[in-house]
Amino acid sequence: MAEEQPAVGVTPSHEAEVGGLGVRRALPQRTRRTVGAWCFVDHFGPVGADLAAAMQVGPHPHIGLQTVTWLLEGEVLHTDSLGSEQVIRPGQLNLMTAGAGVAHAESAHENASGAHGVQLWVALPDETRAGPAAFEHLAELPQVGLDAVTATVLVGELAGIRSPARVDTPIVGADLAVAPGDAAIPLDPSWEHAVVVLDGAVELDGVDVAPGALAYLDLGRDEVAVRAAAPARALLLGGAPFGEATLIWWNFVARTRDEVAKARDDWEAGADGFATERFGTVESPLARIPAPEVPAGLKAR
Ligand code: MN
Repeated sequence: MAEEQPAVGVTPSHEAEVGGLGVRRALPQRTRRTVGAWCFVDHFGPVGADLAAAMQVGPHPHIGLQTVTWLLEGEVLHTDSLGSEQVIRPGQLNLMTAGAGVAHAESAHENASGAHGVQLWVALPDETRAGPAAFEHLAELPQVGLDAVTATVLVGELAGIRSPARVDTPIVGADLAVAPGDAAIPLDPSWEHAVVVLDGAVELDGVDVAPGALAYLDLGRDEVAVRAAAPARALLLGGAPFGEATLIWWNFVARTRDEVAKARDDWEAGADGFATERFGTVESPLARIPAPEVPAGLKAR
């Protein structure tokens, strides 16, 4: 362990609503747009079956990002313009790479007992952000025991254990199941990291962190001490600082307003029962989500 680890910086998430479900949005924040290439972190639930059923997100487009879905509870049906139709359950990973354009819909499975999970976005680098779309479902992911923590590696590598999921930039994402006790999680000091607590409460280097916050761990840190008094769940995210200024607007991650405006027009070209050349068609009983107007002064940050 290094002599001095940088301080843990805890900032509150903000409340938002997605597809009828309240979410705690930990990223982006006004003063922090990205952690590595992670650029969007929505934590939803836990809610019971009645509220879970309200989660119905109709067909909508994405560009320039990957969506990462991870559940603690519930079942979600994913359909996309690549022809994928996949139910995801706790312990499994859905990873959709938008590239130049993809569309998808997500709805709570009719017999889901509740809903609790995260949806994350990863900004794609210039090399792949205009490339082909892709979707992968990983039914099983590798785990590593680190004293009181059992880490499930969603993407990238942690403590020498690597996920088979596609990564386009150096990032890590891991679920930490924390039993009462202590653990030290090894970190790459050339990366920045963040922890989002999903259930219960944890101490990170002695700092209390609970759901509804982003705990930021700056560069230059080779580990973080995790402690819980009762069972808890948290998400560890990290990566090499994303060197490209991003423009995150609606469901798009781009670099310029022109790119965003073009993607918006390409999506709006398809009316209901739509098929667009760029975004294709999604088999879904849900209504297509129309794009808002692109603000005049939009620019990358
Ligand atoms: Mn989406």
